[in-house]
Amino acid sequence: MRTAIYARLSRDSAGESENVDIQKAECAEYASEKAWEVIGTFEDNDISASRYSIKPRPGYLVLLASIRSGAVEAVLVTEMPRLYRRLEELLELIRLAETTPLRHIEAVDGGGYDLSTGEGIHNAVSAVNNAALESRKISDRQKRKKKVQARNGAFAGGARPYSYEVDGITVREAEAEVIRWAASELLAGRGLRSLVAELNRQGRKTAKGHQWRPLNLRRILMSKRIVGIRVHNGAEYPAAWPAILDPETWERLQLVLTAETRMVGANRKGGRSYLLTGMVFCGRCGGEGRAKATMIGYGKRDHRDLQARRRYYCRATDDRGNKVGCGKVTRLAEPVELLVSEAVLDMLDSDRMAAVLGAAAQNEEMAELVDRYQNHKLKLNDLVADYASGLLNREQLAHAKAVVEAAMEATQAKLDRLQSGRALAAVPVGQSIRETWAKADLDWRRGLIAMLVERVVIHPGRPGAHRWPADDNTELLERVGRQWYFDPAKVEIHWKVYPGDVEEPASG
Ligand SMILES: [Zn+2]
Repeated sequence: MRTAIYARLSRDSAGESENVDIQKAECAEYASEKAWEVIGTFEDNDISASRYSIKPRPGYLVLLASIRSGAVEAVLVTEMPRLYRRLEELLELIRLAETTPLRHIEAVDGGGYDLSTGEGIHNAVSAVNNAALESRKISDRQKRKKKVQARNGAFAGGARPYSYEVDGITVREAEAEVIRWAASELLAGRGLRSLVAELNRQGRKTAKGHQWRPLNLRRILMSKRIVGIRVHNGAEYPAAWPAILDPETWERLQLVLTAETRMVGANRKGGRSYLLTGMVFCGRCGGEGRAKATMIGYGKRDHRDLQARRRYYCRATDDRGNKVGCGKVTRLAEPVELLVSEAVLDMLDSDRMAAVLGAAAQNEEMAELVDRYQNHKLKLNDLVADYASGLLNREQLAHAKAVVEAAMEATQAKLDRLQSGRALAAVPVGQSIRETWAKADLDWRRGLIAMLVERVVIHPGRPGAHRWPADDNTELLERVGRQWYFDPAKVEIHWKVYPGDVEEPASG
């Protein structure tokens, strides 16, 4: 009998031989005992026997092709489930038995079916149904077990989570302190990079004993583990471990970290030495509808004049050659940056801003918004649970999710606006803000400007006509230290948070 041997590695089904080579050897021995001629050996590796698995089996497909070509009379496996996982696969073999020389499917462990007889077909179908039932039971049992573990908030195992011991439950206080410190510094407006630099300077290490990188720290601060939540299949359960941060702090932190990501992205594009990258727009072509017409920083520091060659310019084409701007407006970077920085610092010094920052009503609104946001999240969680238990189908889930997510987005936008004021409240006001500014790094300064400034629009203008700071503005002259050929009237600052906003709420 012309026989094809088929071997497959599977991860479950207790008692089956796992090794493909052993399977092949057992089959070859069986064939040789029966004096069957082996015309080919086919195999697939590392594929689950689960009924739900639909990964392609290349070896199996070649086997089917050989059967179709008429070369195969019998297929030999160690156990039947190696050959087919689903009824559809068996039906295909049964159909092939009607049109090709295939007659037998045979297992080394004794089972075998003669597909040329009704009885043989009936037995084969029963066998596959039993196997499917067993697989379903195992799958349900595993799912229930995991779900119970998740509901109990148990640690899922694996590497030691930062700020917890290896059991995943006990808090490692020294590391928890780092998390709380990082959270409060970030909320006070500091950047991830500068926190990471400080941790590395102090010789502090990650859970795996490595140096810190912004991504490590960010991932930890964004994980729900640190607020005592265990996430399983998108659903959240109260964890068995204690929280490091309270939920309100954590939510505010997420807003800051999301903003930080946007900033980091903008940074990478334009180079690290530009304070306003991503915030400067061309006043000639970058109107409301042309958000792409951002001006980007260009030029290295010159060894003779440290700042002279840095410029913001309207980029005519993007990296792919698409037209994105007029390319006709350019401005020295230094005076633009000084002008915007001075305006931001003046704003922070103003009494009106102090009134904005100190508004108690804001705290209440913040708490209410965070509360609303968390309720949206719980609702999403319920939806996922309903879907998992079959109460909702995929389409209903998608629809319901879209509705809740839209509400979340609106809430998040309001939170974003409030957060600007909140983070600023932690910045020392009055004279010390300028001291803080003088000592701060580029990230911190960018963060502070981004909290207050929506965009900076640079209008076309002829250089040489104006001197800035003006001769009579001795205070600013002294602070800036030099004069530029530069017209401040051609630079327009759009504020995000403007003291006027508090007088007239809900103005947009
Ligand atoms: Zn332009």
